[in-house]
Amino acid sequence: MVKQMVRQPQPGVFLLYTVQGGQPRFLGRDDQDVRDKLLKWLGRSYRYFQFDYCQTPHEAFQKQCELYHQLKQHLDNTRHPERPDGTEWRCPVCNFYE
Ligand SMILES: [Zn+2]
Repeated sequence: MVKQMVRQPQPGVFLLYTVQGGQPRFLGRDDQDVRDKLLKWLGRSYRYFQFDYCQTPHEAFQKQCELYHQLKQHLDNTRHPERPDGTEWRCPVCNFYE
């Protein structure tokens, strides 16, 4: 099902759910291939997902930060999103990387 819905390797962000229509419980991103990362996490505890493609890894990072700050009270992964090594990207919401 995932393979049919998510086709090309592209950066993006995803949310995983334990209950359909429930609160998102896991927020992830991949800078190369969001489908590949999604497939690795999808499983017994996280059975439902949503994802969003982004044009660039930077856009994916910013999107992940925004979602993180909106949703963090629900998430199992409570750490702030990490920027890739070697970048000076900043969170658009908070001062985590100042
Ligand atoms: Zn932040």
